[in-house]
Amino acid sequence: MLDDTLKILDDLIAFESVALTPNLELIDYVVNYLEPLGARITLTHSPDQTKANLFATLGPEGNGGIVLSGHSDVVPVDPADWATPPFTTDYRQGRVYGRGTADMKGFIACVLAMAPRYAALDLKRPLHIALTFDEEDGFHGAPILLEELVRNGPTPAAVIIGEPTGLRVVGAHKGCFEYTTTFTGMNGHSSLPDQAVSAVHYAVRFIARLLELGAALPALAPTDSPYNPPSSTVNAGVISGGIARCTVAGDCVVEWEMRPIQDSDADFVRTELAAATEALVAEMRQTHPEAAIETETVCEVRGLEFAEGSPALLLMGELLGENPVEVVSYGTEAGLFQAAGVPAVVWGPGDIEVAHKPDESVALSDLEACLESLEKLGLDILTKTL
Ligand SMILES: [Zn+2]
Repeated sequence: MLDDTLKILDDLIAFESVALTPNLELIDYVVNYLEPLGARITLTHSPDQTKANLFATLGPEGNGGIVLSGHSDVVPVDPADWATPPFTTDYRQGRVYGRGTADMKGFIACVLAMAPRYAALDLKRPLHIALTFDEEDGFHGAPILLEELVRNGPTPAAVIIGEPTGLRVVGAHKGCFEYTTTFTGMNGHSSLPDQAVSAVHYAVRFIARLLELGAALPALAPTDSPYNPPSSTVNAGVISGGIARCTVAGDCVVEWEMRPIQDSDADFVRTELAAATEALVAEMRQTHPEAAIETETVCEVRGLEFAEGSPALLLMGELLGENPVEVVSYGTEAGLFQAAGVPAVVWGPGDIEVAHKPDESVALSDLEACLESLEKLGLDILTKTL
């Protein structure tokens, strides 16, 4: 099995599927590999048609079954930083090197290597394979795949997102919501502040409200929160505006974020801040009718909320035995699947520490252990009716 996996991994690494660049050759390769196995395949495309998500099913029709999911894209490289060419696999000391070996073509190669085995089994529950595009730059692909899945089915029982967790079971991660808020006031001489509208002053009041809301978040966190710190957090990272001490600032920009542990916290901050913004704008417009406060969403990557006893965590228990459920600080597509109604867990070969870096690699022993669990998924779980 490992030989098959490494052959597929060589092929996958050779596709330079850097985020925001086309991935159709890679998807074609997977289609041509899965179709002869009897897989039923649905592709969904980016608006410009240069990228595709793949959703393939082996085994019976209908709802239920397990999704094995990975993103097809990788982060960019500077070949000068690499000991060997990044888009050619290289084997040294029990590890395979190449861009995407850990994040996350190693997992995808394991899944594809297992596909003929799954196809040969008398599956009682479906096995789905999901590949997305542009995860590494704004999570553009997965929402399109999930929209199609929610609309036309099937509804899977659980998804394993094969991000590199060192094969530890990750049951939750915080979200990352990023925003840019632009304040447009009216400049004037600082000796006559009443005849102008200071964008800087209003930005400060906006930030003050953001911090008040941040201070209210610890009380909203569950008492058994696994995170450090245990609650959702907010941060105003950049503030820029004004031109001189003696001038009332006409413009100001604030870049801020929140890292919610639960969607309700994000809703709370957004709702309260919107109300505060409305009140501030009304005040600004008393002096200057064109004054404005506009918030642009940079990204809203939902977290994976911890769900005790979720089908995804029960599945991992069946596969791996008793295992601690961990939390991580990086984002994945798991939260998007969860929001679409598919219970999710993050579990895959390789370490996140080597991802996104030169000389990215994965241990062959990790790939072997991954294959073993995926085989068990077929033999012990998917061949049995619920
Ligand atoms: Zn990844």
